[in-house]
Amino acid sequence: MKVIRLREGKERSLVKRHPWVFEGSIAGGRADPGETVRVESSTGEFLCWGAYSPASRIRVRAWSFDVAERIDAAFFERRIARAVAVRQRLPIDSNAMRLVHGEADGLPGLVVDRYADTLSAQFTAVGVERWKAVIADALLKVTGLARLYERSDASVRELEGLAPITGWLRGDGPTEVSVHESGWRLSVDVAHGHKTGAYLDQRDSRRLLADRVRHFGAQRVLNCYSYTGGFSVAALAGGASDVTSVDSSGPALERAAAHVALNGFDTARHHTIDADVNATLRRFAAEGRRFDAIVLDPPKFASIAAQAERAARAYKDINRLALGLLEPGGLLFTFSCSGGISADLFHKIVAGAGLDAGIDGQIHARTGAGADHPTTINFPEGEYLKGLVIVTQV
Ligand code: SAH
Repeated sequence: MKVIRLREGKERSLVKRHPWVFEGSIAGGRADPGETVRVESSTGEFLCWGAYSPASRIRVRAWSFDVAERIDAAFFERRIARAVAVRQRLPIDSNAMRLVHGEADGLPGLVVDRYADTLSAQFTAVGVERWKAVIADALLKVTGLARLYERSDASVRELEGLAPITGWLRGDGPTEVSVHESGWRLSVDVAHGHKTGAYLDQRDSRRLLADRVRHFGAQRVLNCYSYTGGFSVAALAGGASDVTSVDSSGPALERAAAHVALNGFDTARHHTIDADVNATLRRFAAEGRRFDAIVLDPPKFASIAAQAERAARAYKDINRLALGLLEPGGLLFTFSCSGGISADLFHKIVAGAGLDAGIDGQIHARTGAGADHPTTINFPEGEYLKGLVIVTQV
């Protein structure tokens, strides 16, 4: 077993069960990509078992803090079984959910989503890459499913020295899967959709939108960065009479339109705009358009804190524009999925946007990823998605 020795004082974060060892913390030792190593303090005490990653600044990701635990096929099966068991206790009204959420489930670099009978997985670190076949077998065994698609095409793989890989890992067949969520029917293409196919992390917020649209009687709803129209279907289900989905992806908008029809809504109540959101919001402002509810769910503007300032300006811009398009008493569902923007900073950005727009509002709810996307108490970096539900002052 290869040993990685840390510099003096650098054991602190591992002692607090934070699962990453940065390259600058290491005094000595090396191993092959993904190889299991024993990480020790400067004085030789055991800290964790982990996966070594020679290319990454995150040089080791911890598998286990238990000296007696062996990192073998049984270990991966236990971790996966634990992750799946937790989801079975969650009141999720859907057959699509995240089963493994990386570090939060003790499996750094692994994301596994279930879409009905199909699993879709992302391997983004060399540790899970090395154990891929074992993990694939364990996933099928624990879930009893037969189809597992690999979506290891996230750009973060480059940081680990890994090339993109996609395709069936186990089973085969069509990559188009029908799922249900909160009583709605949705379709997902695990091969071509974003991430593993869809944005499962927004399930709770989509449901909340349907609920608020219903209770506020919101009629005109603008869904910005709509992707395949999950929030649009939610708004229609809540009784909106006129829903506009804006996205820069044509295929996503086609699917959004198909979802409206699939759920039995009058397609005349839904419009799609294939354009940049910022430009569309400016155009609507110039045209004097007004809405009763607006959703702003942009892609990640900042993945790391260093990009926070530029991202903050981009968030402020769209929030200012959206607030200006709302009727008094209107609803803004605004989100940031940037890990580099804290919940506190996001609140400040939206507050600044309100000041600039000359619009006051109340925060009626704070939202985040659903419980199938947990954050462990020792790994706050895992928290990425935050949302505010704002009602503008009458
Ligand atoms: N709300 C969606 C997920 C949104 S993901 C859901 O619940 O499923 C972000 C979306 O923003 C993607 O579909 C992407 O195509 C789109 N996008 C990215 N940049 C954009 C831009 N500048 N203007 C419009 N859409 C954009």
